[in-house]
Amino acid sequence: TQVETLLDINNIEVIYNHVILVLKGVSLSVPKGGITALLGGNGAGKTTTLKAVSNLLHSERGEVTKGSIYYRGQKVQDLDPAELVRMGVIQVMEGRHCFEHLTVEENLLTGFYTRKGSRAEMERDLEMVYTYFPRLKERRRSQAGYTSGGEQQMVAIGRALMSRPETILLDEPSMGLAPQLVEEIFEIVRDLNEKEGVSFLLAEQNTNVALRFAHYGYILENGRVVMDGPAAELRENPDVKEFYLGMS
Ligand code: ATP
Repeated sequence: TQVETLLDINNIEVIYNHVILVLKGVSLSVPKGGITALLGGNGAGKTTTLKAVSNLLHSERGEVTKGSIYYRGQKVQDLDPAELVRMGVIQVMEGRHCFEHLTVEENLLTGFYTRKGSRAEMERDLEMVYTYFPRLKERRRSQAGYTSGGEQQMVAIGRALMSRPETILLDEPSMGLAPQLVEEIFEIVRDLNEKEGVSFLLAEQNTNVALRFAHYGYILENGRVVMDGPAAELRENPDVKEFYLGMS
């Protein structure tokens, strides 16, 4: 059986400030039901790729100057980010953006307001988020700004879930977190993928953990995809081992 492609990025170029060429022809695809990792070091272009999809480059004076991006066969370039959310695609930004002065639960609710749903649906979805993140339930009345880094990352993912996405673009979930928490977050990502059917495009510098949880990986270097393959194969690849997994 043929796997359905959700996101299809074809040979995109991104330029910042009219002169700085950052993506030099990136192509990748995200299948339905998969966890796809976008790997590479600092500055390789991972965040830029995600922002190109969700149309968040304009505020940074960046633009897609070549190539195309399709979601479910529909061209999504130049779509309003809110429109993309309605299509089922939501980005969780790097650095766990949450509203620090709101409580954990209020933060989650801001994700629900992107769609029109009844109070009963709202409560059902909150419960769904709390099943995956029991810690957030314990802390639901706490001000988000006073929760730990790991909890804020959970809030950011939980809020995205409240919009019932088909695909989450998840930027660097491991950033600044202790190894045990990184593991915990990735286990939840796997659970969401398996039980809720959420597809992920996951930008991550931590190749080791990403390749254990992802099904497929793309490695970006200097604005180009230099290698891609099933995660299990990349883990065994000598170059990946030497340059990205720190063993040879
Ligand atoms: P990181 O892990 O640091 O987020 P990344 O792989 O996500 O790395 P990007 O953030 O996409 O990389 O950055 C790719 C390149 O684009 C870097 O060289 C960066 O300096 C440059 N860049 C990013 N944003 C801008 C901007 N607004 N203006 C100019 N250059 C930028």
